[in-house]
Amino acid sequence: MRKTLVAANWKMHGTKAFAEQLLAELNSGLESDDCSAEVVICPPFPYLGVVGAAAENAEQVALGAQNLSEQPSGAFTGEVSAEMLLDCGARYVIVGHSERRSLYGESSELVAAKFAAAKGAGLTPILCVGESLQEREAGNTLKVIAEQIQAVVDLDLGNTWQNAVIAYEPVWAIGTGKTATPEQAQEVHQFIRQQLGEAGPATQILYGGSVKAANAAELFAREDIDGALVGGASLQADEFIKICRAAD
Ligand code: PEP
Repeated sequence: MRKTLVAANWKMHGTKAFAEQLLAELNSGLESDDCSAEVVICPPFPYLGVVGAAAENAEQVALGAQNLSEQPSGAFTGEVSAEMLLDCGARYVIVGHSERRSLYGESSELVAAKFAAAKGAGLTPILCVGESLQEREAGNTLKVIAEQIQAVVDLDLGNTWQNAVIAYEPVWAIGTGKTATPEQAQEVHQFIRQQLGEAGPATQILYGGSVKAANAAELFAREDIDGALVGGASLQADEFIKICRAAD
């Protein structure tokens, strides 16, 4: 039985005061609602400490990061390693978000190396995959997803998908207000699960792309949708709590 996981991607938003306030609201909201979902908060790097401290007191809230280096340590100015994230209390890390792929030129091979670095250090990677609008309209959605997943499989890590999460995030749905229909999402989630072989039934596969309180329940009701990776709506405590509660 897979637990529902709801992960918040704050992107490059917030301040220290905002992080403290939001976490206080989330902690009390989730606790009093007895929410059944696992919750991961991925703040910008400088606020890992603040969020981590608040998450320590909350049973179902874990700390995550939005990115990491594929390198273990060394002269890589501006980079952050998996060990450093672990040292700061993170348990999860997002890899291959479409903004990293498109704005920072991260290839599927680099994303796979980051996935491996995260797993090697004991972090749970949240591997983002997804097609652009052009790729969907050309009928290439499943091909693109298969290639993004294959780059990780090619590393032959052994138990690749154990302690790993996949997030299907159609690029055209991220931050646009356009959500994939539950049918569109389910089709891709089912396909991804098949790609995972024996690990398929146990692996959490999240949907991401304009998830909000109004559409979370119908997405979570689908057989292969195990939760959500939430951007914009994770910055409002009330809205995010409602999304987490949609799992109940
Ligand atoms: C995201 O950044 O991963 C995301 C899904 O953003 P939004 O929910 O704002 O579409």
